Amino acid sequence: MSKIQAIRGMNDILPGQSEIWLYVEDTVKQVLKQFGYQQIRMPIVEQTRLFTRSIGEVTDIVEKEMYTFLDRNEESLSLRPEGTAGCVRAGIEHGLLHNQIQRLWYAGPMFRYEKPQKGRYRQFHQIGVETFGMATAQIDAELIILTHNIFKAFGISDSIELQLNTLGSNQARIEYKVALVDFLNGIKEQLDEDSQKRIDTNPLRVLDSKDKNTQSLLDAAPDFNDYIDEESKSHFEELKSLLEVSGVSYTLNPRLVRGLDYYNKTVFEWVTDKLGSQGTVCGGGRYDSLVEQLGGRAVPASGFGLGVERFILLLEELNVLPESIKSQPEVYFVAAGKGCSVAQFKLTQQLRDHWPNIHIISDCTGSKFKAQMKKADASGARLCLILGENELNEEKIVVKDLRNGEQQVVQWSALNKELKIILDK
Ligand code: ATP
Ligand code: MG
Repeated sequence: MSKIQAIRGMNDILPGQSEIWLYVEDTVKQVLKQFGYQQIRMPIVEQTRLFTRSIGEVTDIVEKEMYTFLDRNEESLSLRPEGTAGCVRAGIEHGLLHNQIQRLWYAGPMFRYEKPQKGRYRQFHQIGVETFGMATAQIDAELIILTHNIFKAFGISDSIELQLNTLGSNQARIEYKVALVDFLNGIKEQLDEDSQKRIDTNPLRVLDSKDKNTQSLLDAAPDFNDYIDEESKSHFEELKSLLEVSGVSYTLNPRLVRGLDYYNKTVFEWVTDKLGSQGTVCGGGRYDSLVEQLGGRAVPASGFGLGVERFILLLEELNVLPESIKSQPEVYFVAAGKGCSVAQFKLTQQLRDHWPNIHIISDCTGSKFKAQMKKADASGARLCLILGENELNEEKIVVKDLRNGEQQVVQWSALNKELKIILDK
């Protein structure tokens, strides 16, 4: 029979790798806690129209990347391609947004039908953060500083660059779009194919076309700065000064527009040159009209998403993962002989109750002593507890230091205490 394999672009995260994931998640959670953010958990599947209405009909995600299907009730559902829409839906549904301040985070898988390659998968993971009820530059600054502090916690803040832009008000963007479309139509024949199509559907996206020729033609495009409203300008100025006093440096990128329709004012991305063309590790911005667009009462909002796979690739690339995250037992318990398992289980349970932080593996293979000892050596444990029939009869146990081979015999009644003393040496 043919073997069943995982779906292309959807990865298993195996032991060895999963330790890195736990370390990353734990460290990020600590920073989120430090800033007072609370977790929200949403379903992975939502009604398709939630995404078309929020992300935008003519975005890459909705046009070609969504996993959409009819359920048994003929309702169109989609696997979530990102978390913001579901978070806003949940916030409206449960009355978390109107007249309230929220600082929320979530973590989990997202799904996009893309061409799988390094740093780009069909199931990937994001840690997402969303804030509601604050229209200020302060909260935009806080979000960016939060991401900066996350990078600092991993010791990589020098290896990743913050790119910053403002998209102005909705009105400013509408006026700019008219001028941009006019300009683009004038050079239409020279643009790459995707950009030509986007002139009528999503002209701002032409600005971040990956095509080199298109990019150089854009040097002559109307300058968005001439269209930005005064309020967005002063919001942006304040944001920049708050970042400066907080020690977060940034690069202005006037072509940064991001791939989703719902952004206004602040947009930002954290990018690295260490991951080839999948260099954006984290992206976010302000989305003041989304809550109303999804049927709630208007509430200002901003947030970001951090791509966990790309982040881990970067940590590996920079070689900053600490040795200590490897999952290694401190104690390996071997037992062989008649009646020994009973004592092995009794003593292990007693040790685990007494020392919840000591990492103990109890051999359950049923093999002979020699094979169990080999397993103990291979496990990386520092100490081996050895129980045979002789020890059983005398209610004793051998404690062997696997680094230097030294052994001592300990009474069962003294094991809790002695084990800790030996480990602490
Ligand atoms: P890109 O331009 O690389 O396609 P994006 O703009 O589509 O990214 P966002 O929607 O802003 O990405 O998602 C936030 C983050 O999630 C990205 O910065 C990236 O780190 C990660 N991400 C997005 N798509 C994928 C994917 N297919 N595989 C792995 N990570 C992804
Ligand atoms: Mg994308």
